[in-house]
Amino acid sequence: MTSLLNALVRPEIAPLPVYNAGLSDAAVRARYGVARTIRLGSNENPFGPSPRVAQALTALAAHVGDYPDAHATQLRQALAEGTGMAEERLVFGNGSEELIKLLCEIFLQPGDVVVTQRPVFGLHQIYPEMMGAKVQLLNLTAALGFDVPAWCEALRAGPKLAFLPNPSNPVGCMVDADAMARLLAAAPETTLLVIDEAYYEYARLADGYPDVLAQLATRKGPWMVLRTFSKAWALAGLRVGYGLASSAELAALIDRVRTPFNLNSAAQHAALAAWQDAPHMQRSVVQTVQLREALAQRLQTLAAAGAPLAGLRIAPSVANFLFLDLGRPAAPIAQALLAQGIIVKPWKEDGYTQCLRVSIGQATDNAAFVHALVQAFGQEQA
Ligand SMILES: *Cc1c(COP(=O)(O)O)cnc(C)c1O
Repeated sequence: MTSLLNALVRPEIAPLPVYNAGLSDAAVRARYGVARTIRLGSNENPFGPSPRVAQALTALAAHVGDYPDAHATQLRQALAEGTGMAEERLVFGNGSEELIKLLCEIFLQPGDVVVTQRPVFGLHQIYPEMMGAKVQLLNLTAALGFDVPAWCEALRAGPKLAFLPNPSNPVGCMVDADAMARLLAAAPETTLLVIDEAYYEYARLADGYPDVLAQLATRKGPWMVLRTFSKAWALAGLRVGYGLASSAELAALIDRVRTPFNLNSAAQHAALAAWQDAPHMQRSVVQTVQLREALAQRLQTLAAAGAPLAGLRIAPSVANFLFLDLGRPAAPIAQALLAQGIIVKPWKEDGYTQCLRVSIGQATDNAAFVHALVQAFGQEQA
């Protein structure tokens, strides 16, 4: 049976890793016997979506027998108006991860080169490899930021596609407007530039974060900016991502390859309701940024020489998470946190196995995380 499958399967598929989607609440409760979990592993928004989302979903219940609008007309109109982008240059995905996959399916062939960065957002590597492309992973600087000269050099070599996450997930560092200008100048027009702005709503509050649509406006080559309703808009469970494309032609290519109803009715209605209550989202984003800075400060204090978390290093972040270099293997620490129901993401990539990513939760959750982290460090020393 195995050899039968081996003879049939595309050679790119068998070696692919399965995306590390983390443990579900139910799995953590069952495995560790905890009554409650604290979810700090998936960069979700703990403040939840606008209450209008629940109203929209309730109203939709009577119509779930109808197929969705394959064109997402109302949501498209609202986003076009809000972003200033022509309707025909918008694309939608079952999460922005689907758009990442579609771009790979449309553009990549065996041997093509894709540039991105490590530590990597898994799907920026898995989907190109699925198509047989070769992924070049650029390293961070010693200060855990983007290596802009390395990016410029890699882009100058003319890869088929580049996934530039801004800010980076898992690190949280960003490319500022000046650095972005250098990257854009380095990229030849034959390179498809994909700027993944999954944390745009948080990052835009940071000094120097680029208005990348303005910067891309004069670019001759193709590009797409990806955004999502999963993070700041708190709709991760419904799967709505969107892309702003350099041209209607590029958007039309997506339409050829996607499944016609990739955005289900609940997703469309919920996203529209959330979008129409932007102040709700903005309040939670401001709160989250304050909580992020407070958590970073607290950890910094505890990381001083002789303090309980000595050896810990915190990467500067403009997103809704922090990337921590623990100075010791992260997996056992994450395990100790799980035993208390606290879910974080220990990094598994070579060179980063001492790091973990913690999402910003509500104040009490962040405090529980710090408490458990101090305890876990102490237990290891004992
Ligand atoms: C979360 C995330 C996404 C995917 O979000 P969807 O839920 O699929 O919309 C894409 N890119 C990055 C960098 C992310 O962190």
